[in-house]
Amino acid sequence: MDTHDKPAGERPDDTMPNLDLGETERLVARTPLGEHTVMGGECGDCSARMAPSRPVCPNCGGTNIHPAALDSLGTLYSFSVVHVSATREVPYTIGYVDLPKNVRVLAAIDGDPAELRCDQVVRLVPDTGDGWRFAPASVEEKDMR
Ligand SMILES: [Zn+2]
Repeated sequence: MDTHDKPAGERPDDTMPNLDLGETERLVARTPLGEHTVMGGECGDCSARMAPSRPVCPNCGGTNIHPAALDSLGTLYSFSVVHVSATREVPYTIGYVDLPKNVRVLAAIDGDPAELRCDQVVRLVPDTGDGWRFAPASVEEKDMR
């Protein structure tokens, strides 16, 4: 059954990142150099980028969306430590990561939460298994930005 056949309330929210197991291949791409990048979409009409990809462009309403390998480095916009969960081991950290060209993704964040800071540079962690996962970038990577 197509998910669009389900009544409202049972459909997955297409505007939110899907962190379910098994979605990793759709969420992460690998460049020819072996680097992992966030997989999303790019509008063929206005060049807006989005992650995850959507059938309709949130910027211009166009439907000419094609898959696009986005970036692996971003900045941590905000984060929170989750202490209660029915499905995951706690505590874990989740946050919004801003990628270049106005793309913001919700992702798990590795590292000691006491050491995390908003606006710090983070890198996509490969082999996520549960969606996008970022960790603080190395000093060298921060200098490259
Ligand atoms: Zn567009």
